[in-house]
Amino acid sequence: MTEQKKTVLVVEDEEDILALLHFNLIKAGYLAECAADGEAALKAISVKRPDLILLDLMLPGIDGLEICRRLRAADATREIPIIMLTACGEEADVVTGLELGADDYVTKPFSIKVLLARVQSVMRRKSNPQSDPESAEISHGSLRIHPGRNLVQVDGTTIDLTYTEFRVLEALAGRPGWVFTRYQIVNAVRGEDYAVTDRAVDVQIAGLRKKLGPCGHYIETVRGIGYRFLEGL
Ligand code: CA
Repeated sequence: MTEQKKTVLVVEDEEDILALLHFNLIKAGYLAECAADGEAALKAISVKRPDLILLDLMLPGIDGLEICRRLRAADATREIPIIMLTACGEEADVVTGLELGADDYVTKPFSIKVLLARVQSVMRRKSNPQSDPESAEISHGSLRIHPGRNLVQVDGTTIDLTYTEFRVLEALAGRPGWVFTRYQIVNAVRGEDYAVTDRAVDVQIAGLRKKLGPCGHYIETVRGIGYRFLEGL
């Protein structure tokens, strides 16, 4: 039995970009659907649920963020992976989109190779959700995290982290490759330490990197957006 082709819906009002994406998605073995504005996108999604959506944010009529909001609000569409296509300088919108539940973003102009890699990566992450984070050990390179035991080791040596640092690291490392906004990081540790603010996240990350030593660079700064744990270690 041959594997069923995945459908990618491209929502983009710039014809050149739409055509380029359509061509390359087909070439890469996907089925590609196109929509040039928000209304057409919502209609296409209601007719046939795509496996992933490439979503331009600046669209005539219903814009990308509103589409994101609507898709995440409905049971039938909540789980569809969304990669936002954004322009330089739209960091604030990216932050909003990620907080609305978009999975990732690519900034224009992008390389097709990078974009296809992101598509593959998001589809893989969605189809292999992290197993029970309460008990599963997280292991990346020489870093080991034991969530149940609040224990972190670098090259076999136990690292002394504060509870908040541990929760931040656990959140990031539990989803490598995902970009977290500061607000999402605050959310991940909230309830345990109400004093965590956006600004405090930067302080926590700085402290974490220092304590992690040779693994400190596993936590990447995503300029204007937040932080990401390196993928593929
Ligand atoms: Ca546009």
